[in-house]
This record gives sequence, C-alpha cells and structure tokens, in this order.
Amino acid sequence: MPRFPQEGGCQCGAVRYRLNAAPLSVYNCHCKDCQRFSGAGWSMSMIVRSSDFEVSGATVRYDRRADSGNVIVMNFCAHCHGWLWNDPPDGSIKVVRAGTLDDIDWARPVGNIWTSSKAAWAEIDPSLVNFDKGAVDRTPLFEAWSRAHQP
Ligand SMILES: [Zn+2]
Ligand SMILES: [Zn+2]
Repeated sequence: MPRFPQEGGCQCGAVRYRLNAAPLSVYNCHCKDCQRFSGAGWSMSMIVRSSDFEVSGATVRYDRRADSGNVIVMNFCAHCHGWLWNDPPDGSIKVVRAGTLDDIDWARPVGNIWTSSKAAWAEIDPSLVNFDKGAVDRTPLFEAWSRAHQP
C-alpha cells in the first residue's frame, strides 16, 4: 500500500481529489452502464469512506436511475466532463473511478461484479471475488481487499 493521502483528478486538471486514507476495496464493474460511460469493457470502482475524500473544482452531476430503482448521482468535471465518482444512496461511501488516480499501480482490483454482462472476451480470474450481478453486500470485496493488503 502507498502512503496516504493519494490524489487524482480529471484529464484537464480542473477537478482534483484527495484520498486521506486507504480505500475499502477496488474491483471491476462489467455492467452495461459502466461500459457505456467508460467506453471500455469495464470500469474500476474504488470504494472510499466519504469522510476520507476531499474534492476541489467544479463538477456537474447526472442522476442515473439504476435497475434497482435507486438513483445514483454520477459526478463529472464541469469542464472536460471526465467521470470521477458516484454517490450511492448510502451517503457514507463514494465509488471513485480508480483510473482517475494519479498512480494506479497500487489499486489492483480484488474482484469483479456484473460478470453476467461482461464482454465475451473478458477473462475473469476465478481466484478473485466475483459476482454475476451487483454486490448487494460488498463485505466479501472489502475482506478480499483487506487480505490482499495485510501489513
Ligand atoms: Zn476536467
Ligand atoms: Zn458498473
């Protein structure tokens, strides 16, 4: 694990964030929304405590209605519109796009969710914590991250 704080931000540099403590987990999401928003086969979700996350710069939001009926607030840079993080209905955590970290070397995903909608060619490591749908309870993903980063 690196030393904290760790920082990240959007492509144009107008929005910067600081993560003051280690995240709770990092995993890949293969849902169709992540494929559309990232333009890639999956996006990397980094779960952080809201109290550990500080942002500077102007953002714009898009309220996305998930299949569950929940409204997920998606936050983007107001200038370059890079996708930075989501606010789930539970305000205690944020789901940050791990690819926006300045240094992503330490943020190795410990699992995969929504593998039921993954690309046919996407290979899932069976030794990771994998879910065919969303993880209603993220505890196994948190535990896998803790195990991978025991001091
Ligand atoms: Zn920007
Ligand atoms: Zn997703």
